[in-house]
Amino acid sequence: MKKITIYLMIFTLVFLSSVPTTSAKQNIQPYQTYTYETMKEDLKDLDKLYGDLVEVYTIGKTPYGRDLYLVKLGYGKANAFYNGSHHAREWITTTLNMKMIDTYAKSYQTDTSLGGYAVKDLLHKTTIWFVPMVNPDGVALQQKGLNAFPSSVHKELLAMNDGSNNFKRWKANAQGIDLNRQYPVGWETASKSHPDPHWKNYKGTKPFEAEEAKVMRDITHILNPDLSLAYHTAGRVLYWNFGVDQGDLARDRAISQKYSTLAGYRMVHTNSGAGYTDWINGVFDKPGITPELGTYVGETEVTPDQFSEIWRRNKHAGLAMAAEASNVSSNNTNVKDRREPLYVDEAVKDALLPHSSAPLYKQAQKAQGQLNLSLEQTVELYSWYQKCGNSCSVKDAELKEILGDVRGFSDMKSKSNVKQDHAWTITFETDVHRDSIDKENIYILNDQNQRVSAERFEVNENQVVIRPPKGNYQSGKTYTLYVKDVEGLDGKVMKTPVQMSFTIR
Ligand SMILES: [Zn+2]
Repeated sequence: MKKITIYLMIFTLVFLSSVPTTSAKQNIQPYQTYTYETMKEDLKDLDKLYGDLVEVYTIGKTPYGRDLYLVKLGYGKANAFYNGSHHAREWITTTLNMKMIDTYAKSYQTDTSLGGYAVKDLLHKTTIWFVPMVNPDGVALQQKGLNAFPSSVHKELLAMNDGSNNFKRWKANAQGIDLNRQYPVGWETASKSHPDPHWKNYKGTKPFEAEEAKVMRDITHILNPDLSLAYHTAGRVLYWNFGVDQGDLARDRAISQKYSTLAGYRMVHTNSGAGYTDWINGVFDKPGITPELGTYVGETEVTPDQFSEIWRRNKHAGLAMAAEASNVSSNNTNVKDRREPLYVDEAVKDALLPHSSAPLYKQAQKAQGQLNLSLEQTVELYSWYQKCGNSCSVKDAELKEILGDVRGFSDMKSKSNVKQDHAWTITFETDVHRDSIDKENIYILNDQNQRVSAERFEVNENQVVIRPPKGNYQSGKTYTLYVKDVEGLDGKVMKTPVQMSFTIR
């Protein structure tokens, strides 16, 4: 017997080591310590492998320059949002997020069902969004210790770790802020908070103080998820209710029960406050659940040998929750996909470019509203803001990619000393189609980039006359006239949109 066992083991080892060269290669390797670098590589692969089914965005940076990633999976109108590794030592939750992305995407591609869920149909109804690693600085510190950080901060990190060189128990980000105590619902009264930056439980001086929490705030507002899951590791329980409204209680309980049944996790009420899903429960009035994936292992990491059990319990639950998100969202109306070209006049520029005062998500949402952007475009716009900051320009090639067909106006020579009641006459090369002349094709903006309603248009063969607005133009002010998409009687549409500014005497 002994001999056979040894023989089998050797055979298995040889077989395993040859796997990566075959086409049956797994895209995610979950039975290892899952690092920030591994995730980064794997995300690149998944993005390539699954076309536009899987999209990967950078949505911000940690204080030590590590990227925060958002992943889109699916094409649905409903939005489910899953995230992992708020807590550094709980990085196995990142492994789970990554395994879900890969498995569900593969199931979509091969049109197979998983746990009774037709994945293709499901991902046509619901888009699942992931932030697989909310706290990459903390994860790096927990896994690699001081080596992953510049020597200038070693003293500070050691102090927050009570002088110990062993960072295995670390939960916080690298500023010693507990990222799951950074959300405003229940923050004031959050229990057991450490008084200053520490390896665990320090809630910071105010909600959303940590950059990572700020990004989570922003992206949650933009996605406005129908259902959220924040993965943690300790104790095989589901926290599901932190002050859920009476009216949402039955819905949220039923959804949590579904997860509980599939994963075998016990449902418990949350009592600490300031956590991500507490905020979801309290502010968004949508289900927000915190599944604790593994057995309680004390003040340290849950190791990869627990992963197969974690996966067995959660792989169908992830799909069940995506299905629930679609039920929750069925009474929501969502923004449509933008397909028409976008003409960038001064007002559009104003809507597109970030201004320093307001939070970036508000600006992305403002642009979404004004320009009728799709959710994906809005996410991309936010990602672009995070990258270019104060130097964002509408000339950036990236913006054209985000918005699709972006068109600028070409300048005509400006006019000065114009009379207050001046009527402009535009002459075209050919006779124009009367129906193609309206306030979307020809319009005037004032120096505040607001529309000035022209009194009326007169169309005569190849000429359009624009009468001045009621009460005329204001003396000394500058206006800009925009002309685009005018159609000739021969069916041809003007190729280059034009703009002309003029100053009133
Ligand atoms: Zn946790």
